Amino acid sequence: MAKFDLKSLKAEEFINHEEILATIEYAEQNKHNVELIDEILEKARPKKTADGTICAGLNYREASVLLACDIPEKVEKIYEIAKEIKLAFYGNRIVMFAPLYLSNYCVNGCVYCPYHLKNKHIARKKLTQEEVKAEVIALQDMGHKRLAIEAGEDPVHNPIEYILECIKTIYSINHKNGAIRRVNVNIAATTVENYRKLKDAGIGTYILFQETYHKESYLKLHPTGPKHDYDYHTEAMDRAMEGGIDDVGLGVLFGLELYKYEFAGLLMHAEHLEAVHGVGPHTISVPRIKRADDIDPNVFDNSIPDEMFEKIIACIRLAVPYTGMIISTRESQEVRERVLNLGISQISGASRTSVGGYTEEERPHDSEQFDVSDQRTLDEVVRWLMENGHIPSFCTACYREGRTGDRFMSLCKTGQIINCCHPNALMTLTEYLVDYASDATKEIGYSMIMDELKKIPKDKVRDIATQNISDIRNSNRRDFRF
Ligand code: SAM
Repeated sequence: MAKFDLKSLKAEEFINHEEILATIEYAEQNKHNVELIDEILEKARPKKTADGTICAGLNYREASVLLACDIPEKVEKIYEIAKEIKLAFYGNRIVMFAPLYLSNYCVNGCVYCPYHLKNKHIARKKLTQEEVKAEVIALQDMGHKRLAIEAGEDPVHNPIEYILECIKTIYSINHKNGAIRRVNVNIAATTVENYRKLKDAGIGTYILFQETYHKESYLKLHPTGPKHDYDYHTEAMDRAMEGGIDDVGLGVLFGLELYKYEFAGLLMHAEHLEAVHGVGPHTISVPRIKRADDIDPNVFDNSIPDEMFEKIIACIRLAVPYTGMIISTRESQEVRERVLNLGISQISGASRTSVGGYTEEERPHDSEQFDVSDQRTLDEVVRWLMENGHIPSFCTACYREGRTGDRFMSLCKTGQIINCCHPNALMTLTEYLVDYASDATKEIGYSMIMDELKKIPKDKVRDIATQNISDIRNSNRRDFRF
């Protein structure tokens, strides 16, 4: 039996099976312990201080008790606090991004993913640099500024050199007023040396989903290929941080294992990163398994209903208040609408999950990784967000200004987001409206920007932002940032 040690660098010690089981048991025993639940809720609530607002966060045990609690009024409180935290640290901004699939060649055998090696009928594609350029122009012409690049694991077809070349190509393209200013990377676990190369290439967040924290299940779900190695996969974020990447993105694929197990494992992982590297995950993603080429999601018997999914998101929000939370187009408009009020701070829009999909007139399905539920255009998503009181943000300033890792966290903790991220969101939204939006989106957008400018507390910042917004509207000047 492995010992439990959050500071260990060994997967089985910092994600400890026995400790997760004990946590689930503890949560079950205390799920009606009103006194304890109230204490935990009070701990989670944001507190005002002289320097701004702070939030204690919750450890995996406390958060697991809230997740298990089924007392309706307490669950309502969880949702209320989740919304409070979201507003305190992220305001009403929602950061926009799109995935870009580079290659679906893959040597792994992941049983939930249609890119698995044994799938002989899916169209295998890998973008050439010319094709990367065409895809990026299509994404820029929609208005995207932030991408998450995706690729299968294949050392022959998609070696690190290929990924690096693609990143260079992506950053080099400026079509009309377009630019991709932040490239996040979602590729298989790799070496410290390769993470260093990604860092030098100027990536934003390195994202890697754990898929499942349950080792025994993990080994069965990844029967063949390099991804079979649970320890190597689980320890990837430590190597990424050792390679100099400050911003890492965690996630589990909900539906593979029992959600209570995944929830505790995910938060344990976050605590481990904080304990070892002094900074927790920059983002957490919450994907659920979707139908795909030869994948039937019903085969996996741990699927979670929408209500539980929403509760999971709210409880993560309470546990890690400074971590961004991402929801993709795997989810429908209805689900996305609800979770935007429970702590989600980043969403994708107009995504295509096929290789080369953005340059096709019709949504292609032959090389897709999974079915997309929310199939609206970016303009529709942006308008819908504003109609629901959220500010779509195309901001990428933080990492370009060196505000990564703990520096970003301190911006969050000192409440400076309202003087920094808020004007940046308004300026990048103006860019979007001027360059890409429909008339209906422009109308609601400009009026929202005028109202939101008034909320910037510092006079100087407000004046500069107002001037920059006027410059964006009246000239080709772009990329202002605080
Ligand atoms: N190959 C890399 C890896 O191994 O991590 C890159 C990730 S893959 C392109 C992106 C993610 O999509 C996976 O980590 C997995 O969680 C998710 N995914 C795979 N199959 C899926 C499905 N059928 N439905 C929803 N998400 C899926």
